[in-house]
Amino acid sequence: MEQKIQRIKESALQDLNKAGNREKLQELRVKYLGKKGLLTKVLREMGKVPKELRPKIGQRANEVRQLLEGELDNRLAVLREKEKEKKLVEEAIDVTLPGRPVARGHKHPLTLVLEEIKDIFMAMGFEVAEGPEVEYDYYNFEALNIPKGHPARDMQDSFYICDEILLRTHTSPVQIRVLEDRVPELPVRIIAPGKVYRRDDDATHSPMFHQVEGLLVDKQSTLGDLKGILLAFARQMFGQEREIRLRPSFFPFTEPSAEVDISCMNCKGEGCRVCSGTGWLEVLGSGMVHPKVLANTGYDPEEVVGFAFGMGVERIAMLKYGINDLRLFFDNDVRFLRQF
Ligand SMILES: [Zn+2]
Repeated sequence: MEQKIQRIKESALQDLNKAGNREKLQELRVKYLGKKGLLTKVLREMGKVPKELRPKIGQRANEVRQLLEGELDNRLAVLREKEKEKKLVEEAIDVTLPGRPVARGHKHPLTLVLEEIKDIFMAMGFEVAEGPEVEYDYYNFEALNIPKGHPARDMQDSFYICDEILLRTHTSPVQIRVLEDRVPELPVRIIAPGKVYRRDDDATHSPMFHQVEGLLVDKQSTLGDLKGILLAFARQMFGQEREIRLRPSFFPFTEPSAEVDISCMNCKGEGCRVCSGTGWLEVLGSGMVHPKVLANTGYDPEEVVGFAFGMGVERIAMLKYGINDLRLFFDNDVRFLRQF
């Protein structure tokens, strides 16, 4: 029995020296000193030992138990210290290291262009107005002199929510909402930037795109004022040497109506691939507000007069940056976005 205790002690000490971590130590504690541990087992077998030897063997076993407990604790302390040192080395902070650069994002090209458009018109006294993207048929079409069955509705293939509600196909309904709100206040001078929706999807059309609407209503305003404002805009946006020209066109909510072209910045008006050899680039639509539109909002078309214009933000951005596929704006490819 004594020899058995001695063997347990020796093997336990050997195991202890090899134990490299705290988990291993815990295993050894269970193996030797636990309820079913080797040393505990020996003490349970005391019954088999002759009576006169029991005190001596018992004392011996207890000595070994105490020794092992002490050794286990010592070893644990050593391992803890080692772990602490290791952690200190691994997690040391070198305050002299240069910081890691934080990658900075920036604004989307459409946001940049939109902000530029806003800045230009706000500097000319226009304020920014907003309207809902889910719009009544009345505001989107009817109040703008586009009654049901009007062929102009076919030009704007729409997303309908129900018969009377749709995703607005242009920012023009904001004209109606603002005029209704302000009547009979004068002057009304707003731009209305925002998202619009049409069932179109190709290299130059997206089902969702951005427009900026402009509206000025006052006692006096002429086509000449409109042209002056648009020329100032074209020059600030595309360069001081730009010229503009107005071509007669048709919109139900303006009369007369005009498409506005700017002189091509690629060929300076001589004609090139960008402008299809014409020297001109179409950038927006405009005109004098139709008397019916004014009347629909409560303004007296005999007393006030106004002009309106509307442009596609994507179109402006494509011309400004020379982008040939509108879908690039919405692909979220950083290789594209990083260029702005
Ligand atoms: Zn050109």
